[in-house]
Amino acid sequence: MEFKIEYKSSNARACCIKTSHSEILTPVFMPVGTLAAIKSLDAIDMSEILDAKIILANTYHLYLRPGSKIIKQMGGLHGFSKFNRSFLTDSGGFQAFSLSANSKPDEEGIKFKSHIDGSLHYFTPKSVLDAQYDFNSDIMMILDDLVALPASKERIDLSLKRTIKWAKEAIDYHKFKQSQGIGIEQNIFGIIQGGTDFEARKICAQALCEMSFDGLAIGGLSVGEENEAMYDTVEAMMPYVDENRPRYLMGVGTPEDLVENVSRGVDMFDCVMPTRNARNGTLFTSFGKFNIKKAEFITDNLPIDPKCSCYTCKNFSRAYLNHLFKAKELTFFRLASLHNLHYYLDLAKQMRQAIIKDEFENFKREFYRQRTC
Ligand SMILES: [Zn+2]
Repeated sequence: MEFKIEYKSSNARACCIKTSHSEILTPVFMPVGTLAAIKSLDAIDMSEILDAKIILANTYHLYLRPGSKIIKQMGGLHGFSKFNRSFLTDSGGFQAFSLSANSKPDEEGIKFKSHIDGSLHYFTPKSVLDAQYDFNSDIMMILDDLVALPASKERIDLSLKRTIKWAKEAIDYHKFKQSQGIGIEQNIFGIIQGGTDFEARKICAQALCEMSFDGLAIGGLSVGEENEAMYDTVEAMMPYVDENRPRYLMGVGTPEDLVENVSRGVDMFDCVMPTRNARNGTLFTSFGKFNIKKAEFITDNLPIDPKCSCYTCKNFSRAYLNHLFKAKELTFFRLASLHNLHYYLDLAKQMRQAIIKDEFENFKREFYRQRTC
């Protein structure tokens, strides 16, 4: 992976990341394609209509179904899904932790029961990388020990100890595999844990920065804590997160969260919010968000956002979308997802332009000033 910081505006950065499948300009929002598809959309929508340079897929789900060996046989995630730009895959730890009633972390990994058929599985720092080698993901995430917040000091300390130990096992294994000719073009990111405890975050960040990860992720935030606690934690730990590598804040967040964390030096984001909200009728716009099901839209001939240049806004009215939503027409999911993802991808582009012009603080003021709902 090539990484270059191109511009800075206060702490906000505009960078370029080159993988063997695409050039990614930051700040970047990565749409979430849990099952190797963004819900209701396909690879052609993602590249030709939305021009996304990188999307996410989930190791837990794909490992269980269809299975990593089948994906490998079908040409990895790129050959299988036909999205030929970059893929980032998570380690699966988060889903093993959140979807399985019986998940149990121990010193070596996470034991869990499949939510599909109840079969027993064990994720270890090595096994989650093996799955990701089969996927041929451009960016692989390591296994980390997650904690639900609020957590006791003892639980955070244990998570820290395990996360650092597993990170070391993962980076050593990756170097070994590359020496065997496997995963040569694949990159690996470490994940910093520590809850909202600043000292724990600092210790974890310092330990992981000493390892030769291609990028550094901040995990374990946006899990129920207050927004301010998230922003303060990111701000407090950022001086310890190597500035010469991409910085990725996992699972975040609202448009406001993106703006706030870019201003604190984060480069990469992912979240199910734009697609999940699209499916329940919530649409993001330059003036805030609203729900299309409201009666006021029944005869509204305007597009979702008159300032938006997306496929949906160029072609369809709020009245039509209101009708499709109420009729539970499947076309609604596609049109609403295209609009919401365009909004997030465009917000990232606007932030990049503001950073290039060294006007990020002005951009941020204007972003909040325009929001009325
Ligand atoms: Zn639109």
